[in-house]
Amino acid sequence: MSAHTALILLPVPAEIKLTDEKFPVKNLTGYSIAEEFHAVIPELERVFRTLRMEVAAESSGGAFSLSKSDLPAGAWQMDITADGITAAAGDITGAFYAVGALTQMLFAATISGLPGDALDGAEIFDKPRFAVRSFHLDCARHFQEKEFIKRFLHLLSACRINTFHWHLTDGQGWRYQSKAADRMNGKGELTDGQYTQEDIRQINALAKTLGITIIPEVDVPGHSRRLLANYPELACDPDDPGNEICLGKPESMQFLQAVFGELMELFPDSPVIHIGGDEAATAHWEKCPHCRKAMEEKKCANMRELENLFMVELSRFITAGGRTPIIWGTCSGQTYPDDTMIQVWLDIREPLKIAPNGNKMIYSVHSSLYFDYPANLSEPWETWMFELSEKGVYMTDPYIIWQDKVKDHIIGTEACLWTETIPQHRVFAKLFPRILAYSECAWSLPEKKSFQNFSARRELLEAAGFTDYLKQN
Ligand SMILES: [Zn+2]
Repeated sequence: MSAHTALILLPVPAEIKLTDEKFPVKNLTGYSIAEEFHAVIPELERVFRTLRMEVAAESSGGAFSLSKSDLPAGAWQMDITADGITAAAGDITGAFYAVGALTQMLFAATISGLPGDALDGAEIFDKPRFAVRSFHLDCARHFQEKEFIKRFLHLLSACRINTFHWHLTDGQGWRYQSKAADRMNGKGELTDGQYTQEDIRQINALAKTLGITIIPEVDVPGHSRRLLANYPELACDPDDPGNEICLGKPESMQFLQAVFGELMELFPDSPVIHIGGDEAATAHWEKCPHCRKAMEEKKCANMRELENLFMVELSRFITAGGRTPIIWGTCSGQTYPDDTMIQVWLDIREPLKIAPNGNKMIYSVHSSLYFDYPANLSEPWETWMFELSEKGVYMTDPYIIWQDKVKDHIIGTEACLWTETIPQHRVFAKLFPRILAYSECAWSLPEKKSFQNFSARRELLEAAGFTDYLKQN
């Protein structure tokens, strides 16, 4: 692999033209940043501090300048010449990505251990392949503290991931303070912990600064064991509440509308709200007089149809609130109004069934994007898991089959970290190095990708200390 510093960039840029010029790192003594991008300054200063460079802010000029242009969302460009580094972006996410690219090249320039080396000349233009590049974190099974979530958001930004899917509730825990569900005390089964509404405001503010959109999730009607233990009247049988909310009692929908109404208020910047919808068992519903009555009144052939109507009703509540609902795909023939997004997780063939209905999809098929699965079989694993190597993540492509039939409907991808077996202190160990493979998978054009070349870049960045730098954020 060439030692050219611009060829180390990860994810690999859309367009890159190399020149023979060299910019000595020691000449980087001043920087100027467009006012609308000042949020990148702490990140920039952290890089300079880490690499022991003395670089001062200037009102204009400086060897590194970052200006506002009319580039599309997330796109950035950079010219490196003998005189300096000139960068531009159209929005704050693109500005962070330009700073991230500069950071990688500065680490690469010092890889020999001799600070003061040079950045090689290049003209770079970069833009994302997918509009939605998402990462999911389950804080319901094992809880992660607020400060940890902030570190996680910085890591996502460094990996060009612009969406954070926050799985806030599950059978084992209800992890945010709710007035609508005020009997939930925050104690989970595997760890304790709950975000206060102030915590959520702080995390929203940081996400906004970084240009990251949060998709909050309350997972219903299944995955609700902990909720029903505290609200048994919402279960089919209050003496044996189980894991599924009763579909037949009017109180169920009233309660969920209060919960989701509050959730939309708590996340004012979130255009998409996740309503769950996965893995509900029908056994309690089958035995329940309320559910059976509702099934007959609504002329449903079975409980899956009743569940479908229930979730469609909940999705209409979200659209009435001005947001877009998203739901886990079920592969069970259920359909939703075409303004409902569907998260594909179970089967690579599912998009083919969904596309004709017009729904937009996020692709997160478990066998290639579930990061709780072991990267190799020397790691602990559970019976439901596949092996998911770095290469497996890298090779993932939602268009791998039937591109022509689904490409207008799949708007992005998502990697998921479920935490049944992952306490907070193991999260980063599960993310690295596969999150870098995911970064390139979600960002870069397929014709620019090569696993061999990616591995060489990833190893060089590791050797240069960049990966440790990301982990210490
Ligand atoms: Zn019921």
